[in-house]
Amino acid sequence: MSLVPMKELLEDARKNKYCVPAFDYSNYEMMRAVIEVAEEERSPVILMNLVVDLPNNGMEYLTAMAWEAGEIATVPVVLHLDHCTDLDLMRKAVNAGYTSVMIDGSTKPFEENVEMTKRVVAMARPRGITVEAELGHVGSAQGNEDESVLTQPEEVERFVAATDVDCLAVAVGTAHGVYTKEPKLELELLEAINRVSEVPLVLHGGSGTPDDQVKEAIARGIAKLNIHSELCVAMRKGLEEFLRAEKNPSPFAAHLFAKPLEYMREVVRKKIYLCGSQNRA
Ligand SMILES: [Zn+2]
Repeated sequence: MSLVPMKELLEDARKNKYCVPAFDYSNYEMMRAVIEVAEEERSPVILMNLVVDLPNNGMEYLTAMAWEAGEIATVPVVLHLDHCTDLDLMRKAVNAGYTSVMIDGSTKPFEENVEMTKRVVAMARPRGITVEAELGHVGSAQGNEDESVLTQPEEVERFVAATDVDCLAVAVGTAHGVYTKEPKLELELLEAINRVSEVPLVLHGGSGTPDDQVKEAIARGIAKLNIHSELCVAMRKGLEEFLRAEKNPSPFAAHLFAKPLEYMREVVRKKIYLCGSQNRA
């Protein structure tokens, strides 16, 4: 198989009330954990890149690795660019092999967000690349104050009609990073958004959001769940355990990364079952 666009996967998920898990990966081990467990569970899966990992030839290395993995995989794999705010970088990305991209104009005024998103749809659509945008703003869990701005249902209809975007990230009470206090999702708001949205909805800040709330969100139209922090925490926990346990740690990277891989695989499997995407490939 080779990498696939995201649009059809999310539409199927929305229709059948499950969700496709999406994981940011920064290295081979993270990517491997995601693909291997997705294969074991016969789940479609979305690999994502963060802009912070792309300088120098980061984009080329990471996309090449994902394309090879996609060829080998026997489940649908999407390669998605997460949170791109820069149109020049986006131009590079649509030529680099992404099958899906997110243009994040969520900190911009509504009209500017519409304009940016329209330009990306014009670049991506002719190549069959899916486009995700964000309306409202999902802030950071680590900030002193929550700078999130909840998505307004009235704006959703206008935004989707004006941009013709394929899917939409919404702000309904989650935040990025590791939570310092438990989030509380605005489920009624999500339901109202889903009612007026013609396109599938995306939940960012999936890491650390309690499972019961995520399930409620999936029942109300969330078709893609973004996970990053939980994978990073699992990798770090594995590394720390290995280094603490070994007096003379093996110099082989394969040994260094065995525990991190094990813990990351646990996270991926848990999220697949949370999303209900097992046996959907
Ligand atoms: Zn995000």
